[in-house]
Amino acid sequence: MPQTAVRNSTAEWRAIDTRHHLHPFTHYQDLAEEGSRIITRADGAYFWDSEGKRVLDGMAGLWCVNIGYGRKELAEAAYRQMLELPYYNTFFKTATPPSIELSEILVGLTPEGLNRVFYGSSGSDANDSIVRMVRHFWNLQGKPGKKTFISREYGYHGSTMASASLGGMSAMHSQADLPLPGFVHVMPPYWYAMGGDLSPAEFGRKAAEALEQRILELGPDNVAAFIGEPIQGAGGVLVPPETYWPEVQRICKQYDLLLIADEVICGFGRTGRWFGSELFDIKPDFMTLAKGITSGYLPLSAVMVGDRVAETLIEKGGEFHHGYTYSGHPVACAVAIENIRIMKEEGLIDRVQTETGPYLAQRMKELEAHPLVGEVRCVGFIGAIELVKDKAKRQLFDPADEVGVKCRDHCIEQGIIMRAVRDALVFSPPLIWTREHIDEFVDGVRKALDLTLADIGGK
Ligand SMILES: *Cc1c(COP(=O)(O)O)cnc(C)c1O
Repeated sequence: MPQTAVRNSTAEWRAIDTRHHLHPFTHYQDLAEEGSRIITRADGAYFWDSEGKRVLDGMAGLWCVNIGYGRKELAEAAYRQMLELPYYNTFFKTATPPSIELSEILVGLTPEGLNRVFYGSSGSDANDSIVRMVRHFWNLQGKPGKKTFISREYGYHGSTMASASLGGMSAMHSQADLPLPGFVHVMPPYWYAMGGDLSPAEFGRKAAEALEQRILELGPDNVAAFIGEPIQGAGGVLVPPETYWPEVQRICKQYDLLLIADEVICGFGRTGRWFGSELFDIKPDFMTLAKGITSGYLPLSAVMVGDRVAETLIEKGGEFHHGYTYSGHPVACAVAIENIRIMKEEGLIDRVQTETGPYLAQRMKELEAHPLVGEVRCVGFIGAIELVKDKAKRQLFDPADEVGVKCRDHCIEQGIIMRAVRDALVFSPPLIWTREHIDEFVDGVRKALDLTLADIGGK
């Protein structure tokens, strides 16, 4: 067992945390009553809290620790770069070797036609950068009317004003008078909850048609772009039917919308491909990258910019009046380079595609026999378990029953972690998981499901 030298500090830390720390995405009164779980260390597939409890991390932190915890190579890359050059900006015609080298690597990894990179420090700021570039682009094209962005309900694109407007999370919108003008939403390809009597293939086409209808309502001359995650992550791991993306791409082309693939979760091996766009054969004008780009060891984001937009900005745009102090941060870029090198050297993505991903899907699908489980969705190392009231009718629980939250809490008692999105339990483990980790996970999930069923008075 690892050392738990900090055991005596838990109560004290909780008291200070409650007094002084405003957490993100947290109900403050609940937190004050329950206190926070304080995570003190991590290694490989596990983390430990301040009470010494070991947890198998089914979420890779927050969808990001793709190569697992405790990788000395990343710490050493950061250390070397901090000694050599801890910071310099990339404004005003300067650059640093890591920011240059990472750009070449990212262009090599991403689909054809994405040949330029704009850096930030988070997925949210990357999507803000895209909003800026898209509007600038259409102005330069002499089509200043093309300003509106279309995205999906349950989409997640970040938490700044613009990226939360792109997102389709009504709880976020209602607290800040969002979305901003010029951001509209259409239905997601969420067959399980919204598909009714249609087959998944029919429903995929219907969800894409909703985009076309909205474009026609707004007028194609007023619509700038469509943004979507290849698989919607924080919205509940919504895997689109195969018919969806081909239709969406046809529609974007027909009405001349720029297409943005938000790969913040799907990128860097999550789906068993380098990018979710490969899986669905998406050819985007922009890609948003963050999270797995450094396996979460340091904050970094990158916007991959397609040739059509980049060449317009370069040839006609004059100075681009946008950027961040930490754009192209040399230490974060050095860590990203090392992270990508390790993913390649260890063949992690191939392993997820051909071996561990199919095994995870097979083991998780066994849970579809459980009375609470309506559907298991799993692609590569991302998935969800949809908990339902009536399997035959695909009827969801009343949200007020918080069945998903109950199950999540039981998971933590079992020493595994998933996240509850409504009543879907989502998982996104580090790509280093072995069959043994998967077996341990499935055993824990099964116990948590049984305990949840008992809570709600099931057999
Ligand atoms: C997490 C996430 C973001 C926002 O990234 P931050 O680094 O939290 O700002 C954007 N898009 C998607 C798809 C995400 O999952």
